[in-house]
Amino acid sequence: MTQTRYRYNFILTVLLLAGFIFTSWFSLIIAKQSLFRGIENDALPLTSHLIHTDLQKQLQAPIIISSQMANNTFLHTWLAQPEKDTTFLFEYLRQTRSDFDAVTSFLATSHDQAYYRYDGSTTTLSKQDTWYQDTMDNDALYTLNVDLDPRDDHQATIFVNHKIIVNNQVMGITGVGIKLDHLKRLIDKYQHTYDRKVYFIDHKGRLLFYNDATFADYSLNDKFGQHGTTLLDNQTYKLRLEQDDKTLFINSRYLAHFGWYLIVEQALDQNNSLSESLYINLLMGIVITGVILFSAQLTFNHYQKRLEKMATFDKLTNTYNRQAFEPRLQSELQKARNQFKPLVMMMLDIDHFKQVNDKHGHLVGDKVLKHVAHICKSVVKEHGSVCRWGGEEFVILLPKTALNQGHELAEQIHQALSASVCEVKVTASIGLAQYHIDESEDGLLKRADAALYSAKSTGRNRSVLAKAA
Ligand code: GH3
Ligand code: MG
Ligand code: MG
Repeated sequence: MTQTRYRYNFILTVLLLAGFIFTSWFSLIIAKQSLFRGIENDALPLTSHLIHTDLQKQLQAPIIISSQMANNTFLHTWLAQPEKDTTFLFEYLRQTRSDFDAVTSFLATSHDQAYYRYDGSTTTLSKQDTWYQDTMDNDALYTLNVDLDPRDDHQATIFVNHKIIVNNQVMGITGVGIKLDHLKRLIDKYQHTYDRKVYFIDHKGRLLFYNDATFADYSLNDKFGQHGTTLLDNQTYKLRLEQDDKTLFINSRYLAHFGWYLIVEQALDQNNSLSESLYINLLMGIVITGVILFSAQLTFNHYQKRLEKMATFDKLTNTYNRQAFEPRLQSELQKARNQFKPLVMMMLDIDHFKQVNDKHGHLVGDKVLKHVAHICKSVVKEHGSVCRWGGEEFVILLPKTALNQGHELAEQIHQALSASVCEVKVTASIGLAQYHIDESEDGLLKRADAALYSAKSTGRNRSVLAKAA
């Protein structure tokens, strides 16, 4: 029984734990996948889109201003003059700069390669000013050029270089430079709130501007390996890299307007909160397994007790049934033999019980049977055990009891029966036999039965002692 129980417990534990581990593991994988997908398909593209939109919005005003400058009649007239008075030009540039809160405003003339700045300085364009040639070579009306000022916290200044076209001829380039303050704040927000890195690279993979000084030694190939080239070849690109114990998500978007790539990057710790929830799930699984096992034990014990009771006791009279009584009888006989202790067997049969049934019905018969059993038990108490031998016949085993003591108890049963109140008054006949050390179990039973027969045949309602074996 206990072995079956251990096996049952073991199987239950294994099944429950395996179930918990499987479901926890499975839900971890699903949660991880949806988290990864969320970052890859929603979070990073959305960040990239917002930054791009913001950038476009911020550049709208300077592009319009530059376009207005390029179409300004005063500038056109000024450029056409053979003798140029720069006073008015610088006044115009200064005014434009302060009106639009720009960092700078300028004019570059094509015929003499002069560069006029709002602050009154005039220089000559040199080879280093590649932006000039780039704009001239470009089919578009204007180009954007980013300039990094390392003295200024790596803030970017964006120049709008707008061509001045008069009579289909490019007379020069004018425009303003603005600081992308707002963009920097937006990028900072993503960096600090969502732990995302945002930066721009040019078509050669060079870092354009960034908001994190640790990026200073940036190299696209160091970072992305062979993916670097693929990234530059695609308008949009998604990349997932495993680095140390981190998963790195990268989203790249080509900004055709600027010729830049906007990169948004997010690193996710492999030991993130998801793994934590796996441990919590497993812990809960172990606790629940414990609770289930405990309640299973309680149920098991309850049913085991009920089964044992059913297998041991007679349901109607609550005395031992024959099946449970036999081994008890054997062990008591053994003890009596080993310890040289007396033992008495009493065989009791209700008198004319058939008539009770016939006259009053079986239900009353049952009540009488219960009543008689109850009296036997209350008289015998701890002296022995009562067994329903069959029908209306009981065997009472009295270990460590001498025949005269047994006889006394039998008389007490007769008295109790006659004094007790039940629906029908009944008497019983009793045969008593004292166990002899050499005697078999059958022999003892036979002698008790013979004594009972004798009690029946000599008038009933009496006890008869069997002859010695
Ligand atoms: P005697 O004095 O010679 O023992 O007569 P008796 O009528 O008691 O003996 P008999 O053996 O003829 O009848 C026993 C009856 O006990 C027969 C049977 O229907 C009845 N009986 C046996 N078991 C049960 C039981 O569980 N409930 C009821 N109500 N009757 C039972
Ligand atoms: Mg009888
Ligand atoms: Mg009988």
